[in-house]
Amino acid sequence: MKITIIGTGYVGLVTGACLAELGNDVFCLDVDQRKIDILNSGGIPIHEPGLEEVVRRNSAAGRLKFSTDIEASVAHGDIQFIAVGTPPDEDGSADLQYVLAAARNIGKYMTGFKVVVDKSTVPVGTADKVRAVIAQELSSRKDGLPFSVVSNPEFLKEGAAVEDFMRPDRIVIGCDNTTDGERARDLMKKLYAPFNRNHERTYWMDVRSAEFTKYAANAMLATRISFMNELANLADHVGADIDAVRHGIGSDPRIGHSFLYAGCGYGGSCFPKDVQALERTAQEYSLNLQILQAVEAVNNQQKQVLGNKIIHRFGKNLTGRHFAVWGLAFKPNTDDMRAAPSRVLLGELLRAGASVAVYDPVAIEEAKRVLELDFYDAPELLASIRYAENPMDALSGADALAIVTEWKAFRSPDFDKVKSSLKQPVIFDGRNLYDPSVMREIGVEYYGIGRSVLA
Ligand code: NAD
Repeated sequence: MKITIIGTGYVGLVTGACLAELGNDVFCLDVDQRKIDILNSGGIPIHEPGLEEVVRRNSAAGRLKFSTDIEASVAHGDIQFIAVGTPPDEDGSADLQYVLAAARNIGKYMTGFKVVVDKSTVPVGTADKVRAVIAQELSSRKDGLPFSVVSNPEFLKEGAAVEDFMRPDRIVIGCDNTTDGERARDLMKKLYAPFNRNHERTYWMDVRSAEFTKYAANAMLATRISFMNELANLADHVGADIDAVRHGIGSDPRIGHSFLYAGCGYGGSCFPKDVQALERTAQEYSLNLQILQAVEAVNNQQKQVLGNKIIHRFGKNLTGRHFAVWGLAFKPNTDDMRAAPSRVLLGELLRAGASVAVYDPVAIEEAKRVLELDFYDAPELLASIRYAENPMDALSGADALAIVTEWKAFRSPDFDKVKSSLKQPVIFDGRNLYDPSVMREIGVEYYGIGRSVLA
């Protein structure tokens, strides 16, 4: 099938590459010339396990093309996926300017029936706006071409995006009941047929429910994290181990084991903005989503938990102190630094006078870029950051180690080396990677999240 992907970022590139892998003829559009140049010269602009091979294989086979040519992109695909960013606006609502710009281009250049698929995460009612923009463009050129707008939100996780796309838990598709909607449903069914061979994974619904499903999923996941983080903070006070509690409650099938990890807060491009956007949608209807307001507030506080523990241990004035930080990306297996808790920790440490040595397996370049923005008001603080070559290199001469991202490489370090490299064996573990009793045995002063169990 002929597919166009508008927006070649994390979601667009993975969607395009994976659909090409299944034999489709895919045209990826982006307005960012730099991204398209990288892709056309055989490179890849993001870190995502397994993606490079899929992109290379399908580009070589001629099934995957990258371009900035808008008119050609509209001409190419019978199905036009909109996968552009929906960043938070100043008031927290989703900024739809990129989605609507993509829709406008489709309306401007289409010459035959198009299925327009909202793959970006967009508030309930966005399909109506996309439909109106396309209709307006068509009417301004006195054309009545048929089209249908479909909602097909994406559930892939960065760091496992290719695997998630190829083996989805579920595919959610919202279509309307018009004749064009039926035609769209048939095309979407054909496109996703290879994913439904063993069992049906597609949930068909109306457009608004599909749009809502994506927000509901992310809001639920964010809620589980904030819930566990709040309990972890209490566990620290009462002398319980939140990790034992996690196992204890997760074994109840009504609760389940997934997504119950306490830590130093969630980040990334999705949870923070999607929770906020859902709150804003509710406010438009004069409703307050009180649980989600709390989820957001708890998370904002939780991003400060490592900094607070460090200040509690070393004092408010950290001048002359030096800390090692392992992990910068908001989660492992990605270089994405959007809303990463590491940024909050670095802000706290540097502004309190400390210097840091940081290490991340893949996010260093992205970190340099975003930290320059974070410290635009105090660029001199950037000189207090050293980017280390490897985890052990980051440790030398540090007063303590803080772990922010649970990269696999941090799970079983050589603790003798860790101890001898640090000035004193102190670890602040924002991801609860280690066993507090083992740490005690080997003489590490250990601070986890919710793990101050009484010895
Ligand atoms: P991204 O910023 O990585 O990519 C968006 C791309 O769209 C950019 O390359 C940008 O240059 C391009 N773009 C913007 N306007 C354009 C236009 N008019 N025409 C063509 N290209 C244009 O964003 P992302 O992380 O891929 O997210 C995209 C959407 O998918 C968002 O709504 C996000 O919430 C949602 N989503 C993201 C993830 C994730 O893990 N990143 C998962 C599920 C859903």
